Amino acid sequence: MKEIINVIEREAALKKENLDRQIDCLDHGFVRLVDFMGSDSSIVQAARVSYGKGTTSKRRDKALIRYLLRQRHTSPFEQVEFKFHCKIPIFCARQWVRHRTASLNEYSGRYSEMPNECYIPELERLQIQDTVNKQGSVGEQVEEAAWIKGTMQEEQTMLFANYDSYLKTGLSKEVARLNLPLSTYTQWYWKMDLHNLFHFLGLRMHPHAQLEMQEYAKAIYELIKPIVPLSCEAFEDYRLNARYFSAQEMELIRSFVNGNQPDVDCMIRNSGLNEQEQKEFNNKINI
Ligand SMILES: Cc1cc2nc3c(=O)[nH]c(=O)nc-3n(C[C@H](O)[C@H](O)[C@H](O)COP(=O)(O)OP(=O)(O)OC[C@H]3O[C@@H](n4cnc5c(N)ncnc54)[C@H](O)[C@@H]3O)c2cc1C
Repeated sequence: MKEIINVIEREAALKKENLDRQIDCLDHGFVRLVDFMGSDSSIVQAARVSYGKGTTSKRRDKALIRYLLRQRHTSPFEQVEFKFHCKIPIFCARQWVRHRTASLNEYSGRYSEMPNECYIPELERLQIQDTVNKQGSVGEQVEEAAWIKGTMQEEQTMLFANYDSYLKTGLSKEVARLNLPLSTYTQWYWKMDLHNLFHFLGLRMHPHAQLEMQEYAKAIYELIKPIVPLSCEAFEDYRLNARYFSAQEMELIRSFVNGNQPDVDCMIRNSGLNEQEQKEFNNKINI
């Protein structure tokens, strides 16, 4: 009983410090922590039910959380839930909504008028097409960046002016909105447990995710970190900054360690990994 009261008291203190914290994203967006249930203590508490024990010292709690995450014993992390209010451009929402393990309620453009707010990237974000990561952007802004930004702004103004004109004719909102751009901001309440949130963050904080999505994912991470610091530390060590190696890659690493073959480049070339795999391996071990 005492242990349960301790967990509840700790969570109440965390709520006081963290509820309603908001981080602004992009030009008009934000992520705000609306509510949460649980903390590092709830993970430990749930895990120890398996052994018939409660929380013990902070050092042992930390070791247990790290063990659970390392061993992918993930269900205790589902005991913690976070609810966010997010304001995001629709193109981000389309990527975000692919994460099916969330519960969400979105602003309805059928019921309410869409506010005239669109995302306009900064000039330096108007970069060239990446030819390696074919979904990405890379390097400097394109020469015509200023023209592109101006034209995007004009298009957004025109599309919203037309939207207003359509509404004035009596056209329904659900049809009037059809030509609004992907840059239009939407809002939702989004709730997810910590196990699935780590999966989401691992994918969306990754440099391969679209930069705008990375900004939102990093904001979410900043909001949850003070509430589950031990879990976040383990997440960074065993997921975010960890790498996964195939059987063939492990074979190579064993040879490196054993010093069987001094010429590393030659060894990778003759490893049987295809060209793409070799590049990925080099990236993973930072050659
Ligand atoms: C950098 C990047 C680029 C991407 N590019 C594209 C793209 O070009 N086109 C595109 O369509 N998508 C793309 N995606 C989306 C991607 O394919 C996934 O849909 C998205 O990342 C969600 O991952 P998830 O399904 O693991 O997550 P969640 O939906 O949150 O699911 C979490 C886990 O639950 C399980 N799960 C959930 N639902 C099911 C189910 N119905 N059946 C079986 N298992 C389930 C799976 O184990 C899954 O990993 C991209 C994602 C990233 C990060």
